[in-house]
Amino acid sequence: MKNLDNLNFTNTFIDLSPELYQAKSPDPVTEPYLIDFNPAGAKLIGLDPAESERQEFVEYFAGNKLLTGSKPLAMAYSGHQFGSYNPRLGDGRGILLGEVTNGDGHKWDIHLKGAGPTRFARGFDGRATMRASIREYLAGEALHGLNIPTTRSLAIIGIRDLIYRQTPELAAVLVRISDSHVRFGSFELFHYTNNPNRVQELADHVIHHHHPDIENEADRYRIFFGRVLQKTAFLIAKWQASGFVHGVMNTDNMCVTGVTFDYGPYGFIDRFDPGYTPNSSDTGGRYSLGKQAQIGYWNLSKWGESLCHLVDPEDIMEEMAEYQPTYNKMYRDLIGQKLGLGVLDSEFTELTGSLFQLLYDNPVDYTNFFRALSHFPEGNYEGLIHAFSNRNEIEEWLNRYQRLIEREDSPFEERKEAMDGVNPKFILRQYLLQNAIDKAVKEADFSEIERLRVLLEDPFRDRPEIFKKYNIDPDLYASDTPDSLLGMQLSCSA
Ligand code: AMP
Ligand code: MG
Repeated sequence: MKNLDNLNFTNTFIDLSPELYQAKSPDPVTEPYLIDFNPAGAKLIGLDPAESERQEFVEYFAGNKLLTGSKPLAMAYSGHQFGSYNPRLGDGRGILLGEVTNGDGHKWDIHLKGAGPTRFARGFDGRATMRASIREYLAGEALHGLNIPTTRSLAIIGIRDLIYRQTPELAAVLVRISDSHVRFGSFELFHYTNNPNRVQELADHVIHHHHPDIENEADRYRIFFGRVLQKTAFLIAKWQASGFVHGVMNTDNMCVTGVTFDYGPYGFIDRFDPGYTPNSSDTGGRYSLGKQAQIGYWNLSKWGESLCHLVDPEDIMEEMAEYQPTYNKMYRDLIGQKLGLGVLDSEFTELTGSLFQLLYDNPVDYTNFFRALSHFPEGNYEGLIHAFSNRNEIEEWLNRYQRLIEREDSPFEERKEAMDGVNPKFILRQYLLQNAIDKAVKEADFSEIERLRVLLEDPFRDRPEIFKKYNIDPDLYASDTPDSLLGMQLSCSA
């Protein structure tokens, strides 16, 4: 286990051409304080969790002191936002401190979000609101708990200086951990400024660190593109199956390692509605639940264009043709798992088609429906039925479902265990998250952030001792979202 003084930073990004970044230290803040610390994040980078108790911990991660060996920088990038190219983006408030290699040899980027304006800030203040930082902090851990690839969180540090949005607001720095911070937009910047050498340099950098097995292949760039495409399809299939809506799938928010990246106005659906977006700024619904898979394709095609000097466009097109079938297969497999079914034939397709129609037509909680379904047909599944307005319809569907279950001959207990391992009991519902934010912002009470972090690190089962220790009432956290709080939306600005 390392301590703060010997984290052993490497700084491979700063060794690249200076056009790719601005060397920049975080701006100091007055009296930083710890809002929450995530021991699981510390474990990931091999840092002794006891280090969080030292005052230096907040000083280092608020950006007041520089960790030994760290050479901080802000990354340059551009990207497509809501379908239009924006040539001027970049880390306006983000600072990459460098990379830490853990005991297993895994290299992790340590990034501060909200650490002061950089040359990419475009007149903005370089800071992040406490509410947005809490949202991203918890999202990383909640998605990880659901086994969805994502950036992770180490800590959230409050700062005393107020920042100005519509009103004065509290601010915080998020300490983010990721296997990479290279985005599709990082490549786009150099493609659109006619700088293919930098595109190649970035590709070589990512291949070297993430795909060393293909470094000597003649068609390594094509293979690289194909692999990122697969990872992206997998990621979005996971989002869809869990009802997660990213909300801002701009190409600068798409990471080349296929992790969920840059959380803004994201949300989990309460009820199945392909038109739902948690982003109130997205009036056209470009990034709504039902669009995410095709937006993934669109984003990959934009990224593919930026690789045109490295990969023949024909080859890009051939790889792109793999996206939809790959996504379909992954999504189908995941829904099969949610239903506890392994035979995914045309009867399965019909069954799932009518299920999603029923879920759309009825006021049923998406997460809790699947969770309750594992009790069928032997346990108490009455709770499944009551929310459907037409009892006959759901019973007819359950009969069809039972036929497919019987066809597979899987023992009830085994199926139940497998289903409960993929259908969470707890998710990061918007109103739970908002409650944690309100307590933090209005009362400086951070206990609800900790409670949600602990609850969501394993959302698939009850853990009575841990729940007791953190005063978690599982029934409360597992219940449907109250009607008055359904479908909450947030704006982009934070
Ligand atoms: P995001 O919505 O966080 O993905 O940010 C989009 C772009 O705006 C990125 O280039 C950010 O660095 C930049 N940005 C957002 N908020 C701020 C801020 N308060 N100060 C500086 N740059 C910002
Ligand atoms: Mg972003």
